[in-house]
Amino acid sequence: MRVLFVSSEVFPLIKTGGLADVAGALPLALARLKTDVRLLMPGYPAALEAATHRKVVADLGNHLGAGPARLIEGRLAGSNLPLLLIDCPQLYARAGNPYLGPDGKDWPDNAKRFGLLSYTAARLCADKSLIGWQPDILHGHDWQAGLAPAYLAAWGGPRPSTIFTIHNIAYQGNFDPSVLTELELPALSFQPDGLEYYGNVSFLKAGCWYSDKITTVSPTYARQIQNSAQGCGFEGLLTARAKDLHGILNGIDDAIWNPASDPYLTQHFQPGDMQGKAKNKAALQRELGLPMQPGRLLMAVISRLNDHKGMDLVINCLPDLLMNQHCQFAGLGSGDALFETGFTELADRHSHHMALHIGYSEPLAHRIMAGADVFLMPSRMEPCGLTQMYALKYGTIPIVNATGGLADTVVDFELEGPLNAGRGFVIEETSPQELRRAVLRALALFKDKVEWNRIAAGNAALDFSWKQSASHYIDLYSGLLREGGGA
Ligand code: ADP
Repeated sequence: MRVLFVSSEVFPLIKTGGLADVAGALPLALARLKTDVRLLMPGYPAALEAATHRKVVADLGNHLGAGPARLIEGRLAGSNLPLLLIDCPQLYARAGNPYLGPDGKDWPDNAKRFGLLSYTAARLCADKSLIGWQPDILHGHDWQAGLAPAYLAAWGGPRPSTIFTIHNIAYQGNFDPSVLTELELPALSFQPDGLEYYGNVSFLKAGCWYSDKITTVSPTYARQIQNSAQGCGFEGLLTARAKDLHGILNGIDDAIWNPASDPYLTQHFQPGDMQGKAKNKAALQRELGLPMQPGRLLMAVISRLNDHKGMDLVINCLPDLLMNQHCQFAGLGSGDALFETGFTELADRHSHHMALHIGYSEPLAHRIMAGADVFLMPSRMEPCGLTQMYALKYGTIPIVNATGGLADTVVDFELEGPLNAGRGFVIEETSPQELRRAVLRALALFKDKVEWNRIAAGNAALDFSWKQSASHYIDLYSGLLREGGGA
């Protein structure tokens, strides 16, 4: 089975969010299941430089007024994943963020930049002579890849089956209708039964409308985006396409997030032998300057600090939890100034019980995950979420809000829930009172060390590997091929 992945970012070449992690890890898991996956992405300078075994495989000519472009084949260093990079200096030879200019605003020609990504993907699907390889499945990710199936529909003729994955429905790629001509799309496609969306050209709408199947990154998020509260205007279309919409949970990279081999930890541990967990807690308390008291419940946050992540709830209930309930807190993150200031003020006031690092630190993230007792993640929306799965693997009991992937991976300690979900504390209502109540429940359980350790070890044994996700995607691909493809 030949699959063309189309993504605007891929870890470790370029990353702004979870999409890069998925685009870097899922193709490898699929390849292990005997799938021939190639990944198409823009030739950003960092990507062109980092790819190994580079060679020019096609002259792409000059389309969409983008200037001359070539297709370069290469490999992802380390993993050997086959890459196809669009070398078009006029569009991609820019420093920094793939989407934003130095002024923090979207690049003004983003429609063209990601239009060319989609256009090239469609050409690879429609014309085998381009590189001598043609996919059976076109798998596009997020709005940047959304126009690819629209081009295939406009051109007609045989085409592969198409799948479009929504990683976060809030990002839609909506542009003024005037871009339609430069994108070389027929005027006829600009209608409600096409890529028109409230008077704009929407790349996300195109991906959802023209693809054979739509997936998103958790079963609960797949249901939630069919409602107005989380559908961001797409709920009608997604409800109409409900039978083609699938929620497949992302995996985590267990080569990187594994307490049995994590190079950042002082002491390794694993489900059958969790002894090392307590040593990591002591080491973390020492590192962060917190009193080294094993009996104190050590809570943690590792997160972007914003409203979506429910950080206001944490700030709101921390003083009581630190002062009256004798908890400790370790925070790592950065984000909105309001939240950074809020956490910093608390840390200044409660320095004896609270340690805070504003910024990004991979090593500290691992050590906090290993040393904390409880991980707080009261997100208001969370398409999938990764950190709650890391917490489960590291025997750190999660306290989460029942939304998106959090609802699929964490079951309330006292309730029944999905298979292969961990035990934690689930809040049903996003309020500081509910979060506080959940921590009090955790505190009560924390007194029973045997039960606490049993739950932590059970969580650590769960399998959130990419292998699981990849086998769901293979089922979906196989189903599409059985149905006879999209021709
Ligand atoms: P989102 O993609 O919405 O930010 P996820 O839970 O899916 O949330 O993924 C967040 C990722 O970023 C995780 O790998 C987490 O460990 C990491 N992360 C977030 N903030 C920091 C930070 N300040 N330092 C180190 N890693 C961080």
